[in-house]
Amino acid sequence: MSRRKIVAGNWKLNGSKDFLQNIVETLVSVNDVDVVIAPPFPYLEKASALVADLNGLSVSAQNVSSYSDGAFTGEVSVAMLKDIGADSVIVGHSERRELFGETDAIVAEKISQVLKFGLTPILCVGETLEQREQGSTIEVCSTQIKSVLDVVGAENFDNVVIAYEPVWAIGTGKSASSAEAQEVHASIRKLLSESLEGLGKKVSILYGGSVKAANAKELFEQEDIDGALVGGASLKVEEFNEIIKAAG
Ligand code: PGA
Repeated sequence: MSRRKIVAGNWKLNGSKDFLQNIVETLVSVNDVDVVIAPPFPYLEKASALVADLNGLSVSAQNVSSYSDGAFTGEVSVAMLKDIGADSVIVGHSERRELFGETDAIVAEKISQVLKFGLTPILCVGETLEQREQGSTIEVCSTQIKSVLDVVGAENFDNVVIAYEPVWAIGTGKSASSAEAQEVHASIRKLLSESLEGLGKKVSILYGGSVKAANAKELFEQEDIDGALVGGASLKVEEFNEIIKAAG
């Protein structure tokens, strides 16, 4: 894959059938911007059917099992997501890492499964406030990315989308400044190219963490920011539309 502009809405534990129907009817389509909606599992099949004939709109899951099949009560496999028409999967969101104990090894295994079935993983990385204050932001993000690179191989990594999401900016209303985000995005691109020549130029890197209509444009103007993974503001359709337009 090559770098694409992507605006993805992570609904987290929110939404309903009616909300889904309404948002698909209301979302704007902007040339060269891939819009992704990530509703909870029960709505994915309907979402995939609703967007099937729409250009530039696709569906992502928010999580997936690292197992492919068997006695794993409550789990959902990549094959099942593919079967119902999902296109991508958010993997390693900080809420999964923090609240559900997902380690770098689990995240890497999930990414490997997602790639095996030809879906697009959206790999989330990012530092906590404490790690930022200690000056270890780049090291933390690099470690999270390297653990995936080691498992899937740099030669398969151009199908991965990265979302840089500083944990302290998620759901707090306090976004990273465009300069802070750009610095991390540039370092991620450098790391990718050091792993495989030219890789940094191929991978889309999204910013996430309190993206709103008010700050989207400035973030998107940064050289290494290809779009956004949006949480809270993706539930407000008008605002989400403004963010999509800002990416165009
Ligand atoms: P937020 O969430 O936009 O509500 O900060 C972003 C995310 O968690 O992906």
